[in-house]
Amino acid sequence: MARFIFITGGVVSSLGKGLMAASLAALLQARGFRVRIRKFDPYLNVDPGTMSPYQHGEVYVTDDGAETDLDLGHYERFTGVSAHQNDNITSGRVYRDIIARERRGDYLGATVQVIPHVTDEIKAFALANTEDLDFVLCEFGGTVGDIEGLPFIEAIRQLRNELGREQTCAIHVTLVPYVSAAGELKTKPTQHSVRELTSLGVQPDVLLCRCEHPLPDGERAKIALFCNVRKEAVIPALDASSIYNVPLQYHAEGLDDEVLRHFGQDAPDPDLAVWDDIVDRFHHPEGEVTIGVVGKYVGLPDAYKSLNEALIHGGMANRVKVNIRWIDAEIFEQDDADIAARLEPMHGILVPGGFGVRGSEGKIASVRFARERGVPFFGICLGMQMACVEGARSAGIEAASSTEFGATDEPVVGIITEWMSAEGLQQRGADTDLGGTMRLGAYEARLSANSHVSAIYGGATTISERHRHRYEVNGAYRPALEQGGLIFSGMSPDGLLPEIVERPDHPWFVGVQFHPELKSKPFDPHPLFASFIAAAVHQSRLV
Ligand code: GLN
Repeated sequence: MARFIFITGGVVSSLGKGLMAASLAALLQARGFRVRIRKFDPYLNVDPGTMSPYQHGEVYVTDDGAETDLDLGHYERFTGVSAHQNDNITSGRVYRDIIARERRGDYLGATVQVIPHVTDEIKAFALANTEDLDFVLCEFGGTVGDIEGLPFIEAIRQLRNELGREQTCAIHVTLVPYVSAAGELKTKPTQHSVRELTSLGVQPDVLLCRCEHPLPDGERAKIALFCNVRKEAVIPALDASSIYNVPLQYHAEGLDDEVLRHFGQDAPDPDLAVWDDIVDRFHHPEGEVTIGVVGKYVGLPDAYKSLNEALIHGGMANRVKVNIRWIDAEIFEQDDADIAARLEPMHGILVPGGFGVRGSEGKIASVRFARERGVPFFGICLGMQMACVEGARSAGIEAASSTEFGATDEPVVGIITEWMSAEGLQQRGADTDLGGTMRLGAYEARLSANSHVSAIYGGATTISERHRHRYEVNGAYRPALEQGGLIFSGMSPDGLLPEIVERPDHPWFVGVQFHPELKSKPFDPHPLFASFIAAAVHQSRLV
């Protein structure tokens, strides 16, 4: 039976619990164990699909079409284990399911309550489909003491009793702040947080203490004494020089050893050669390139988390540092915008996914610059749609636009009302709900033989990539676009939906309707990103 590791956070939010969970999972995996990580979010949204990227960062899409928390991206990038719909739950989803059952009469007249009904639902979610695993890491969003998090902590308490202490391990991530006036690290917030957790019935087994300065032995002993854990189980977690160092650093501090000791589990030392290589590539580049990302949510890098990572992975593949310049597309819409001056220093231009009309003309202007100047261009989802609108305009269809931006006489991009998925024909109208109604998850594409993308994918003729969009490039414009030099080199298997466009007369110009960044990993950079950065390296030698 799988063993369960419950990860909670205390003192403040943003302690990097997701990265911690991903790193511990990677360390256990490197010792030969089968792992899976699940995220429990206490907020009332059913999923993050309808939340603003400014508030919540990127929405991470899984193969099976779930719109999930961005921490699932960390999990997948660090373990290579594909996340699923049943790896992310929110209070909203728990309540929605319970209330639907209550309305159907499934509770046979019983009073429906937080305990046991909500807690049972949370427990069932944690336990589902875990038979083939050695360790299930359950990360709980929020901070201990939050009102909305209480049913989740209660579910942990019950599970620890039901499964047995030897089957479960509670890790609490806290902050040990440095007070410069006193010149000291302070343990009191950690003590308070553990007291709060213990008062809810969960005594932590391991404390991971985030700190900006090394944790002196005396402070470690003090935390152990007051928090009722072994001194060796108080793991200092100093700020790391990069996220890729975190697994190595936690291993050096004894995190995985302590967790295995708790479970009484012998295991071989982890094989961390892969992580050594990643860290080496990241910290010792042999050159650098600058990529301009022309988007909308540029004020918050978390909004493009996977994209940021995939570009770095592309750099690792080429042993170069990737400097990313986040450029607000709207500044290219001003009359005095000197687009050339801003984009000339870029060795590659990327227009990422996005929603809404704001900044769209600025994105189209960036596509034009990249096309005319022969600068490597990568368009992702909305970026591909803008490449097609720009292609149509340059081919003489001046009114070309997307119906997402309002009514247009030349809908080069339009809403899709039906498409084939693994479950059969999907249909949608203009007034359908916004949540969960996009083309979501993994879909296959057929690549044209001898195309640039087919070569990038190592000669593949069929690929599978993840989607999240409501609009599609309108196939009716294919002849006009192809005549203008924009070739449709990837199509849905039924030949109806354009998946990839490219320009054979350009050094590197690719637009994809899907999100390749979601599948890139530091130990397995996505071929499109590796190739795009290689083209940027080439470009950097020309200018
Ligand atoms: N807004 C566009 C659509 O819905 C593109 C979405 C995206 O870039 N993810 O089709």
